[in-house]
Amino acid sequence: MTRRDLLKTATVVGGSAFLAHLFPTSIGRAYALVQQSVAPADPLAAARAQTAAVPIEALKLSDTLTMLSGPGGNVVVLNGPDGKIVVDTFVQGVWPALKQRLDAMGNAPIKLVIDTHWHFDHTDNNESFRNAGAGVLAHENTRKRLSESNDLLGMHFNPAPAAARPTDTFTQTRTMQANGERVDLGYIPPAHTDTDIYIHYTRANVLHLGDVFFNGMYPFIDASTGGSINGMITGTERMLKMANDTTKVVPGHGPLGDRPALTKYRDVLVTVRDRVRKLKEAGRSVQDVVTAKPTADLDATWGKGFMQPDVFVTIVYNTL
Ligand SMILES: [Zn+2]
Repeated sequence: MTRRDLLKTATVVGGSAFLAHLFPTSIGRAYALVQQSVAPADPLAAARAQTAAVPIEALKLSDTLTMLSGPGGNVVVLNGPDGKIVVDTFVQGVWPALKQRLDAMGNAPIKLVIDTHWHFDHTDNNESFRNAGAGVLAHENTRKRLSESNDLLGMHFNPAPAAARPTDTFTQTRTMQANGERVDLGYIPPAHTDTDIYIHYTRANVLHLGDVFFNGMYPFIDASTGGSINGMITGTERMLKMANDTTKVVPGHGPLGDRPALTKYRDVLVTVRDRVRKLKEAGRSVQDVVTAKPTADLDATWGKGFMQPDVFVTIVYNTL
């Protein structure tokens, strides 16, 4: 998808309404207050402020693993005497609160942060983690994307400063042992972006899928850095093979999931893809397809979260 397509996507519902739907709406009031105080001229600052206003909630996944959710993508902390290994970082502005949470888990050092992909709501505090003594591990494409300028949904990203880029990268897989856990990392070929990885804690049977999985809602797909609906479906299929009946599946956004939740999500992606593809192959324009509301029966359940249905349909159309 070109920048022009992205702009077209953004204009489907109009700028501010679109941004308001980019981030979880469960905190309505805090949101509205923050929105009033942020100049609309800087959508990135607005998105950061809106996201940072969400409180952090903690959920214990095992004796060593904790999921933190709220102000950005879901964070998972592996804690123990070998040091804390943290997946994803929330957004700027949340660092003091996140650091406090990590410190409260015990005095082992923060050893490593792992970025699931390049998006700011997952990598924004890389530099703060490094200042706290941690290394930053990611797929090599995350380092590449963070080293360049990007425009996404009206937000402009300058190249991240050197101190905010990964200190270590891999291309296919990486395995590490820490705190009695074995952690398998692997690349997911272009799905949500071209930087996506999974993190599989094999002893606890926890699988973090980053933004390849939005639990219970239509996902955002970033075509500007390699994402596509077919990539999302292929990635989800592959991750289903890694999960079993007791796997705890951590999405990039939304509540903790499991194999049935991931299966339902895969089914919705396939259904929407097939419906939109049929119309596109019949020669219908993107506007025609959006107007036809091909997801009408799914929207009450899946369209209430991150992505408005018409924006999601537009992205699916444009990436087919
Ligand atoms: Zn993302």
